[in-house]
Amino acid sequence: MEQYDVMVVGAGPVGCFVASEIAKEQYKVALIEEHTHIGLPVQCAGLITPRVFETFKIPSQNIVQNEIYGANIHSPSGDVLGVGGDKLHAFAIDRTQFDAKLASLAMNAGVSLFSGTRVISAKKTDHTIVLDAKQSNNQIQLAGNIVVGADGPHSFIRKAFNLPEPKEMLKGIGAEITDANLDSRIPLGAPKKTVSDHVILVGDAAAQVKPTSGGGIYTGLLSARFCARVAIEALQQKSFTEKTLSQYHKKWTDEIGKELQLGMRFRKIFTHLQDKDMDAYIKKLNNEETIEIINSYGEIDYPSHLVMPLVKKKPSLLKLISHYRKQR
Ligand SMILES: Cc1cc2nc3c(=O)[nH]c(=O)nc-3n(C[C@H](O)[C@H](O)[C@H](O)COP(=O)(O)OP(=O)(O)OC[C@H]3O[C@@H](n4cnc5c(N)ncnc54)[C@H](O)[C@@H]3O)c2cc1C
Repeated sequence: MEQYDVMVVGAGPVGCFVASEIAKEQYKVALIEEHTHIGLPVQCAGLITPRVFETFKIPSQNIVQNEIYGANIHSPSGDVLGVGGDKLHAFAIDRTQFDAKLASLAMNAGVSLFSGTRVISAKKTDHTIVLDAKQSNNQIQLAGNIVVGADGPHSFIRKAFNLPEPKEMLKGIGAEITDANLDSRIPLGAPKKTVSDHVILVGDAAAQVKPTSGGGIYTGLLSARFCARVAIEALQQKSFTEKTLSQYHKKWTDEIGKELQLGMRFRKIFTHLQDKDMDAYIKKLNNEETIEIINSYGEIDYPSHLVMPLVKKKPSLLKLISHYRKQR
């Protein structure tokens, strides 16, 4: 049985990034992916902010397909609120190329990639984790000090180690002209616990997703960086207890926990609005002054940054919140 320092299950963007960061420190890392081709099937609209390339130093060549400067929001009665301005807010990316690039960076860092390999069992022994995985014609066994569950919304690792489920599973449909993928899920509402002895969850497996947009690439990669740092510290200290690994949970929740929690609240407010409320609020926002505020403070990765400036300008928007409280 091959022995690793860290076994990462799932070669989505988050798993590839974690594996890469740990391997750069000369640790032995296995990256296990059930699909044969990294990045396929596509289950993503591919909208990310320029911040993703800058923060995580990912080369954008052959990945960016379009630049997005604004959006038109249509109210139920047909009003259109145009927001955006001059700032580049997002890129539309080729998600397959993006994942493939991250996988190739991981392999260049020394990661052993097992594609076409599905993890079917995960067990904790006294000092190690043992994974059984199925390939097309045979079964393999891997062992390691830490297993990172970067295995997406339905996370096998989360279930195998009884870690809490996301609060909500949103159905998403990714459609291309000749193909429609009807089995996509977006996990929302990050659980209170994302580690246990020898085990860490990250990315969609830990529901590190913005509840207002369903975007999880930036938040997942941000958490992946903390995951890699804490795993490296654990390997240096040779301590893989829940207590040691809980530093990861603390770090990622300190960084984005509040933003994700606020996002859940905004989402609840919006999902309770009737069409007539939407019409009224879009009318309220549709003037030069508020559009200017939206354009200046609107932040796809940090939607909460817009709330205070907007409410300061239009205190009547606070009614949204009291409206929601009445609905509960
Ligand atoms: C319809 C839709 C549109 C979206 N649009 C956007 C967007 O525009 N912008 C944005 O930021 N986010 C978007 N998202 C969310 C984004 O796709 C995810 O947040 C992101 O992919 C999370 O990355 P990940 O690496 O954590 O998980 P994933 O990308 O889900 O990767 C998990 C990997 O684990 C593998 N795996 C699972 N189980 C096993 C197993 N037992 N053994 C081996 N391998 C396994 C899977 O095959 C998969 O490759 C969208 C999601 C959906 C569904």
